[in-house]
Amino acid sequence: MATKYVYFFGNGDADGDESMRAELGGKGANLAQMAKAPLSLPVPPGFTITTDVCQEFYKLNRNYPEGLDKQVDEYLGKLEAAMGKKLGDENDPLLVSVRSGAAISMPGMMDTILNLGLNDKAVIGLANKTGNERFAWDAYRRFIQMYGDVAMGVDHDKFEAIIDEVKAIRGIKEDTELTTDELKKIVEKYKAMYKAEKGEDFPQDAKTQMWGAIGAVFGSWMNPRAIKYRKLNNIKEGALKGTAVSVMAMVFGNKGDTSGTGVCFSRDPSTGENVFMGEYLMNAQGEDVVAGIRTPQKLAQLEQTNKAIYDELCQIRDRLEKHYHDMQDMEFTVEEGKLYMLQCRNGKRTGAAAVKMAVDMVAEGLITKEQALLRVEPEQLNQLLLPQLDKDAVKKATEIAAGLNASPGAGCGQIVFTADEAEAWAKDGKKVLLVRKETSPDDIAGMAVAQGILTSTGGRTSHAAVVARGMGTPCVCGCADVKFKDANTIVVNGKAYKKGAFLTIDGATGKVYEGQVAVKPAAISGDLEKFLGWADEVRANSVRTTASGKTVKGFNVLANGDTPQNAKDAFRFGAMGIGLCRTEHMFFDEPKLTAFQKMIVSESTEARKENLAKILPYQQKDFYEIIKTMEGRPVTIRLLDPPLNEFIQAEDEKSLKALAKKLGMKKDALAVKVAALDEHNPMLGHRGCRLAITYPEIYEMQVEAIARATAQLDKEGVKHDVRIMIPNVVTYKEVEQIRGQAEAVIANVNKEVGTSLTFQIGSMVEFPRTALSADKVASVADFFSFGSNDLTQTTLGFSRDDYGKFINAYLDQRVLEDDPFATLDPDGPGALMEIAEAKGRSVKADLHLGICGEHGGDPASIALCYGYGLNYVSCSPFRVPLARLAGAQAVIKASK
Ligand code: PEP
Ligand code: MG
Repeated sequence: MATKYVYFFGNGDADGDESMRAELGGKGANLAQMAKAPLSLPVPPGFTITTDVCQEFYKLNRNYPEGLDKQVDEYLGKLEAAMGKKLGDENDPLLVSVRSGAAISMPGMMDTILNLGLNDKAVIGLANKTGNERFAWDAYRRFIQMYGDVAMGVDHDKFEAIIDEVKAIRGIKEDTELTTDELKKIVEKYKAMYKAEKGEDFPQDAKTQMWGAIGAVFGSWMNPRAIKYRKLNNIKEGALKGTAVSVMAMVFGNKGDTSGTGVCFSRDPSTGENVFMGEYLMNAQGEDVVAGIRTPQKLAQLEQTNKAIYDELCQIRDRLEKHYHDMQDMEFTVEEGKLYMLQCRNGKRTGAAAVKMAVDMVAEGLITKEQALLRVEPEQLNQLLLPQLDKDAVKKATEIAAGLNASPGAGCGQIVFTADEAEAWAKDGKKVLLVRKETSPDDIAGMAVAQGILTSTGGRTSHAAVVARGMGTPCVCGCADVKFKDANTIVVNGKAYKKGAFLTIDGATGKVYEGQVAVKPAAISGDLEKFLGWADEVRANSVRTTASGKTVKGFNVLANGDTPQNAKDAFRFGAMGIGLCRTEHMFFDEPKLTAFQKMIVSESTEARKENLAKILPYQQKDFYEIIKTMEGRPVTIRLLDPPLNEFIQAEDEKSLKALAKKLGMKKDALAVKVAALDEHNPMLGHRGCRLAITYPEIYEMQVEAIARATAQLDKEGVKHDVRIMIPNVVTYKEVEQIRGQAEAVIANVNKEVGTSLTFQIGSMVEFPRTALSADKVASVADFFSFGSNDLTQTTLGFSRDDYGKFINAYLDQRVLEDDPFATLDPDGPGALMEIAEAKGRSVKADLHLGICGEHGGDPASIALCYGYGLNYVSCSPFRVPLARLAGAQAVIKASK
């Protein structure tokens, strides 16, 4: 049997259903589902050409697979029969829309063509048949414009210029004010301009138009903005087959005052509140709402003006939510008083809305806690942790305007007026606020780098609002007080602001402020706290069996933190401990830095010990505060790791002189030291526990500081669980030797202060040799922590500091699927981690395993770590909420 490429929907039935997203795209699958029982909603009939055709289209060098034309003919016939009209008929033409739709929605990124099937004769037939000449000519001018622009590549501005010219002659502003004669004149001018541009007449044959539109929609799968959108949203090129194309009978919202069109959400996509919200425009087509050209009316107003339609929409809202168990984003059109549903999909939402909806839907019995946890993308949680405007600063700030609160968070930056400027300024390290009349899909790259987006027109469903919410960028839209004076100036309520001036927006309230308003970090409370509590429960109760056959219970999230402030953030975000405290970071500020540098340049062991003794109290104080902040949760302190030359750098005479003076040394003597410390690949140099093999007194001082801080807390009755970690271990002998020295220091402190402290002493696993000899290392180590940054560096042979020079080429050419320093490479370091797990636990069955490289905060890597049987991941404090959720999702997905 020939492959089925085309699926019908309409007349109360459909060939496909919602389970066929991969083939029919989200739009096609949901149209089919809405059309058939049990929903049986009023959907205009049509057919969907599958994503398989898109895949073939590109394989065949932009040609269609054999047999497609016959199937399209057959289904067009079916559509014509359902509508009782024929495409291209001169007396009563069937008009269709040709729409894109991939399995994952990519709002506004691909093409759609409306009003297809009109030509010079059919427009007259349509006018006669409908008795509405103005409508017919408006539809025709819209079609020429859309088809010319989208399918044939005629510059959109050339069409706009013609309309503007006609409007200017009569001094009118709105398209709706154009008369029939003016519309006819516009059509004439459009066609002439089209011919001049393309060297041929505007196509009059409806089937030629239809195939042109189908080709344009398939072609739009590979347009630069769609490619960019997939890249920004981490959609891999091979993950989807492409876009489907739905050809659907047109219904008209622009047939006069009893017609209209709108977009609505079953809950508020910005806040998550369970309120029906949306926007509509009377006498308009869908493009007018989405493009933000006219500012639409609130859905609540429809209740006043057309209660029957409003009530019907409310009912549909309830039925769709109950059916999909999720918030729906719906497009509708009212044609002369009759409601049609053109689309429904799970709506895009802000992180805050995603959490609130998930929590509410569990309370409403609509979904389970597990389903709720899968509803929120871990990265979305970052938006909830976005800084908010400081309430006290707001009281003093000058509010200059207010628009719609389209996407929450505080955004502050220098204003720029084009997406290109935003990109260029951001590249120069500036923080920009993108101010536009409205945004279009071409602005996507500029929007992605902006701190916030402010538009003067458009509603909450405009392009700017939808895309900003998806990106988690603060956005205020429809701010009519913002007027564009010229290319470099906006005027807000009479005051001019030049490009580069600072403005601040609050996406949660819609307010716009002059200058830079202070922001403050968000807290975890309310719905988010409850939601993450569920995630913690799921992880705590998890059980899995590793490849080596060990049963592992629980999956914890710890934080990397080096300062008391980091520890406070980690605690605030729900970390169950500190998985990595990099002690070297404690020396970055004065006076610690100088003391530390003096220790490094010491000429003898005695001198070094003397300088170390000066450092000890600083370390002890920092450790004391960190351990105290964590209230008895584990604190894993890593002994000194980086190469010493990172602290002693004097690149020129002047800095050498200054440093020598600071350290009280002769310049020449320092120069000798600097030269001796110089390394060409310091990451593979004299660092980590190698320092302790050569200078044992360094670690001895650190262990003493740890022991003294802990003893102090012990005496104060404060809970503590401190673990000591040795970095850059290559052989078990390093652990054995350093462990012996550390235990001697601890014994001395115990004796001196009268405590009986013991500490777990563990090893980092950062090199292939360590992983491959993990059984030996485990025999002398109490735990392992995978330093996946170095493990990646040494397994792939990519320098973590320099790989930026070539990684983009690897990713663009898909030589590597992911950046190995961002997402754990399962074939490299991942495979070594599995070996280390098996070998390590063959010696100690319950050996505690964790990860503390950057991968510990990456959702895909977290899922791998769960599978490898790690007991915990440790990541930067601000990624802790994300890791708590990603870990729970890994547990739920693994149990399916
Ligand atoms: C690592 O290598 O993954 C690690 C955590 O250590 P650092 O990044 O400090 O080298
Ligand atoms: Mg390391």
